[in-house]
Amino acid sequence: MFLLKYCYRNISHSFAPSTMAQPTKKNIAILGSTGSIGKQALDIVRANLDKLQVEVLSAENNADLLIQQAIEFSPNAVVIGNEEKYQFVKDALFKHDIKVYAGADALVQVVQMESIHMVLAAIVGFAGLRSTLAAIEAGKQIALANKETLVVAGALVTEAAKAKGVNIYPVDSEHSAIFQCLAGEFHNKIEKIILTASGGPFRGKDKKFLETVKKETALKHPNWSMGNKITIDSATLMNKGLEIIEAAWLFALKPEQIEVIVHPQSIIHSMVQFEDGSIKAQMGLPDMKLPIQYALFYPLRVHSSFPRFDFAAYPSLTFEKPDYTAFPSIQLAFDAMKKGGNMACILNAANEVAVHAFLRDEVGFTDIPTVVKKCMEQGTFIEKPTLADHLESDKETRVKAIEFCKKNVSA
Ligand code: NDP
Ligand code: MG
Repeated sequence: MFLLKYCYRNISHSFAPSTMAQPTKKNIAILGSTGSIGKQALDIVRANLDKLQVEVLSAENNADLLIQQAIEFSPNAVVIGNEEKYQFVKDALFKHDIKVYAGADALVQVVQMESIHMVLAAIVGFAGLRSTLAAIEAGKQIALANKETLVVAGALVTEAAKAKGVNIYPVDSEHSAIFQCLAGEFHNKIEKIILTASGGPFRGKDKKFLETVKKETALKHPNWSMGNKITIDSATLMNKGLEIIEAAWLFALKPEQIEVIVHPQSIIHSMVQFEDGSIKAQMGLPDMKLPIQYALFYPLRVHSSFPRFDFAAYPSLTFEKPDYTAFPSIQLAFDAMKKGGNMACILNAANEVAVHAFLRDEVGFTDIPTVVKKCMEQGTFIEKPTLADHLESDKETRVKAIEFCKKNVSA
């Protein structure tokens, strides 16, 4: 049980429990601070200024919001991914004594700053891989939202974390739920985990209906407000596919130990079944602030003013099997996980390309898993990929996926 081993045995508590000496502030870098997770993390910082200090903020394009955040939270440094916006950000932050860097390489450098205790990896997609790995290599604790990092390079990332004694705290709500269910269970064997899925906006719809779906409806998630990419992943159920792979790496599980159940109310965030048959579940209203806060403050639970769950308002919590025919993405993820090597990297790259093509109205909704499947069938398989292999495999797959998106993929 990789993650627990390091969380329970090896953890260096940044906060003393409340009965002990005055806690020191935890210095955090928030990568992807202008996104859905990043903004919610800053809400948590705003409510806990005595416990958290922002050291680094980063954005790709949204320079205006990055500047606004930097002026409010006074980080040591900010990184703007788009180098064309460097001068604009630099000029705006000049008199605030905040260092400004630009580009993907700068992100990799900045996470190594000595003053950083924890990195919240909240960049979306493959783009988050290098900075997360660099932070691990530099010995920083990781609060991981960027699930694609583990999907693409789970073996490299977990090996590096093990070697550096780094803890990876899950931010993804399902994985945080499992992590919370495992508290105090270090010596007990997991029989299986049960990942819950809302089913997305098209639960119960058949393939024929899905062929007509447009981005406007796909972007309306019934329970969660998230960035565009993960919202489309939730509609295709690829998000659950990515989460299966993420869970396998975080909790050292075999594919047959992972089950998915559709739970439309999104109140039970996931469950663990132990070998005595007992099941533990973690519950709460669907609000990402809770798992973000749990990861930032682990092992403490800090008071929050988040809305509380009212059982009477939810007289029935329901469960059903996913429809694997209409939504083939979960099976594709299981296939990638079983194949191993760089197959999940191929799956991820193809999915990112197809989702962006769908968001530009270039392919249909059901073309997304078709592009992924074709790329998995035709990609160059590497059994033990290095980081360089992953970068190359991602590049190669994107070229292929773009070709499939341009052609009639369903043909
Ligand atoms: P968003 O799209 O809302 O935000 C993404 C962030 O990453 C933004 O700050 C964006 O900057 C930045 N970014 C985008 N592309 C790049 C790039 N190429 N290089 C560097 N930075 C980049 O995403 P979310 O916050 O929704 O998701 C972030 C991650 O968390 C994803 O991996 C997602 O799967 C995961 N996650 C999200 C959940 C949610 O509720 N949102 C729940 C569970 C997991 P800019 O604003 O300038 O574009
Ligand atoms: Mg999730």
